[in-house]
Parts: sequence; C-alpha cells; structure tokens
Amino acid sequence: MPRSYIKLFLLLPLVLLFLSAHRPPGRGGNRPKNVILLIGDGMGLTQVTAGMYTNNNSLNLEAFPITGLMKTHSAKQLITDSAAGATAFACGCKTYNGMVGICKDKQAYPTLLEQSEKLGLATGMVTTSSITHATPAAFIAHVKDRGMMEDIATWFLKTDIDLFVGGGMRYFNNRKTDQRDLVAELIAKGYNVSDFHNSPLPNPNPQTTMPFVWFAADEEPQKVTEGRTYLPDATFMASNFLKKRSEKGFFLMVEGSQIDWGGHAQNAEYTIKEVLDFDMAIGRALEFARADGETLLIVTADHETGGMAIIQGSEMGNLEVQFVTDSHTATMVPVFAFGPGAEQFGGIIDNTDIYTKIKNLLQL
Ligand code: MG
Ligand code: ZN
Repeated sequence: MPRSYIKLFLLLPLVLLFLSAHRPPGRGGNRPKNVILLIGDGMGLTQVTAGMYTNNNSLNLEAFPITGLMKTHSAKQLITDSAAGATAFACGCKTYNGMVGICKDKQAYPTLLEQSEKLGLATGMVTTSSITHATPAAFIAHVKDRGMMEDIATWFLKTDIDLFVGGGMRYFNNRKTDQRDLVAELIAKGYNVSDFHNSPLPNPNPQTTMPFVWFAADEEPQKVTEGRTYLPDATFMASNFLKKRSEKGFFLMVEGSQIDWGGHAQNAEYTIKEVLDFDMAIGRALEFARADGETLLIVTADHETGGMAIIQGSEMGNLEVQFVTDSHTATMVPVFAFGPGAEQFGGIIDNTDIYTKIKNLLQL
C-alpha cells in the first residue's frame, strides 16, 4: 500500500472524531438545539419538597430523569446573592456578591445569552421580578452593582434579545438618571412592546415574528397570591415564539423570582405558592420540550433562602414550616435536567458548570 494511503488511514479516526464533535444539533446524539434554563430564585430542596406535599404529593419536576446537587458559593463569600449566582450561570465565573455580568477581575465577560445571540440563535427571558433585577440582569448587562437598575435597562438595547417578559417598566420609560425613553427606543428598534395597562397577558402577534416585549408591572410584578398568573403561559409562549424566530435554535431563561422573596419574608404560603407557580411553568416547558424533542430543560436555583425546614404536616399538605434566617444560606441546591444532554447535569456540580455545560452543548 502506498505511503499516502497509510497516512489517510491514520487520519481517519481523527476525521471521524472531528465530524462527531461538529455534528449539527438536533440530528441525534445528545446535543440539544434549544436550551431553557429555569431558575427558581431561592429554591432549595425544602422549598421543592414543601411545594410537592402542598400539591397532593406531586410536581412536574418529578418527570425529570436526571437530578444533581449544586454548590452556590460566590468568589469571596460562602453565602451568595442572586447577582453573583446568576453571573456564575451567565458568564461561568465566581464573582463578588452584587456584581452583574462582571467577573472578579472586574472585567465584563460575554454571557450565554449574548453569545447565543451573536451566533444567530434566538434569545429570551421571562421573569416574575423586574426584568432589570439581578437574575435576568446578569444575562444581558455588565454593571458593578445590581442596584443600578436604570443602567441595567439600557443593556436591553445593546443586545438583540428577541423576547423579554417581566416587570420594571419604569426603569425604561420613567427614568430618573436621564431623559431617555427606552420603550420608545425599543419600538424604534423594531420591538412590539405591550404592557399590563393594555394587555393582561404577554401575547405576540402570531402573524408577525417581530421581537417582543411585555411589561408585567412598573416595578415588581404581583405575587401569585395577589393574582399574578402569567409565568406558565409566558414560558410556553416564549418557547414557541423563539423556535419560530431562528432555525439555529434558542436560549431562554425563565425565572421564578419570588420564591426568594417568600423566604426573605419567612412566609411559607408566599414561598410555596411561588414554587407551585414555577412548577406550572416547568410543566409548560416540559410540554414544549416533549413535542419538540430537541430542547434541553435545566431547572435549578441560585441559592436557598430562609434555611427553610418542614417540621410537621402530612403528605397531603398542612405543613408547618420554620425558617432559621431571613437571608440566603449556603446549602447545595437541586438541579433537574430533561432532554438531550440532560445526563451531564447529574452528580455534584458547581454553579459555574451550568455555564460551561450549556456553552459546550450549544457550541457557543
Ligand atoms: Mg432573582
Ligand atoms: Zn434573595
């Protein structure tokens, strides 16, 4: 056999390896085309358990085949806040509490959402806090202090995010730090913007694929116990909308923001109702993912809030709950995964691994 053929044979395994590593998404294998990252802010294992027993011993989360545990500490502190927690997911680095989309070297790093957008994937966020709050902010903004809400709002015009749903409209159109009207700027940029004043639910025009924004409140949206209902429907709507927006796939972040606020308030009913609303959103994401077949769902938390414990009750509910703090704790939080690539999320992982694994799976 001529030498050149022998060389070719030696190269063959390398070529096959290259081809398998660059297999397009959604063509078999364990790589998703779409990723939905669902973050229950402050949702530790007890919050999940309390939701389950309050809901006739049943949660949509039980359909997830893979579970893991995740460490949540930030760069210098054992007890993270939501800004550092979300920055770990979004940018893959441990950072200081309070910082948004900035790592501990004080530099801004491109987020999963920004990287997805750059590669032509569709992107979106749906939250039950203001859209400028720490968790969503870390996926699109780069500021040193999570309190800079009006600054954070300006970042929504710097990335071509396809959809966002949440509160915080006043940081866009009733600003104290400058005279900009960011709602007008979004409309000028081609967004279809509506809000709770004129539309009770986020509802993009199905005839068009214009990028879409719906504001749920001027500042923070209502609690579930006050009548807020949009999260489950918005999650399903956003998934379908983003699938239509790009053939290359999508990245969607969904946050059950107020589970954390129930913990800060040491209010069991507030916490549990928010967990159940978030679980309904998870159910709608599952409905989408089952039909789609190319979507990876990851459900986790940035940290636990309240040091919540169930000390009495039955599997049919009537739980008695105690909190040991009105702040966050360092306990590991659960991770649940469903769909192509889910098997990578078992075991004990770090919050920064969420970034690395999603980045690799979407080949960002
Ligand atoms: Mg949050
Ligand atoms: Zn909190």
